[in-house]
Amino acid sequence: MRAAPWRWRQFAGANPPPEPDMRNPSPLLTGLGLSPILIVLASCIAPALAATEPGADAPNTAAAVALAPRIEMDGAAEQGALLRGRIIPATGSLTRDGESVAVASDGSFLLGFDRDASGSVTLRLDPGNGALPVERRLDIAAHSWALQHINAPMRGAARSDADFAARRPGEIAQMAAARRTVVTSDGWRQQFIWPLRGRISGVFGSQRIYQGTPGSFHNGVDVAAPTGTPYVAPADGVVILAATTPFTLEGYLLMIDHGMGLSSVFLHSNRLVVHTGDVVRQGQYLGDVGATGRVTGPHLHWAMRWHGAKIDAARLPGPMTR
Ligand SMILES: [Zn+2]
Repeated sequence: MRAAPWRWRQFAGANPPPEPDMRNPSPLLTGLGLSPILIVLASCIAPALAATEPGADAPNTAAAVALAPRIEMDGAAEQGALLRGRIIPATGSLTRDGESVAVASDGSFLLGFDRDASGSVTLRLDPGNGALPVERRLDIAAHSWALQHINAPMRGAARSDADFAARRPGEIAQMAAARRTVVTSDGWRQQFIWPLRGRISGVFGSQRIYQGTPGSFHNGVDVAAPTGTPYVAPADGVVILAATTPFTLEGYLLMIDHGMGLSSVFLHSNRLVVHTGDVVRQGQYLGDVGATGRVTGPHLHWAMRWHGAKIDAARLPGPMTR
């Protein structure tokens, strides 16, 4: 059976009910000669029949077939990609290479692939109720990443290497503590928007060389804009860290948790207008573009993670139209 072409946007909003995909009834369902409409009707009336006629098991059998266990995925596994998926039944449990994957009440889940992910991952759905597990292997497509030379010192805005060494551990501790914050948000379900439109001056994944010294890879997308240009939230979320003083590398740093392990980070702002703990909505004004931290000019750096995996933020809103 080919993968059902369901679209994620159908599931935007708070806890939509799970819907069997009636455009692609399973071969078994078709073999029973039951139309999708009848299956829906059977699903709806089954509880009523069960209450009055305990012996009438045909509608319940049909409903069970419509819920044949499966893992649906939207998109292909690729370094830096975030995939959206759904399990049926929604009450099943899902693992990735043996590790538990969080699943929403409607069966939706996210799966991110780090920039350096390789090989393959195996998803395993345990439908429960004694049904056989379903497995799906995803081979991760690799990218070749470019080099980018940056005319800025490795230590960013620190006055000296000693100043950097003194300040950096505290900054890292603040970011790590923010990532341990537990919040509730359905922002991850939304179709993300660009926080800012402008020239893309840096792409995800490139290996960076700072004045001749190799640094880590670039984990976000850079959008160049004059200092003071406002930017907005790409999706709903909760502010888990809004720096009140500029960090050495990140400058005025803003971290937003969108729920389900998905988070955004915005760097180098000139100022932030939200505070740690604020609930923000998609499109809400967050702050102004700046040139604080390790930069060569004013821009917004937007990075995203799914749990520990660094993913390419630019893939979420899709191509930018200016
Ligand atoms: Zn950047």
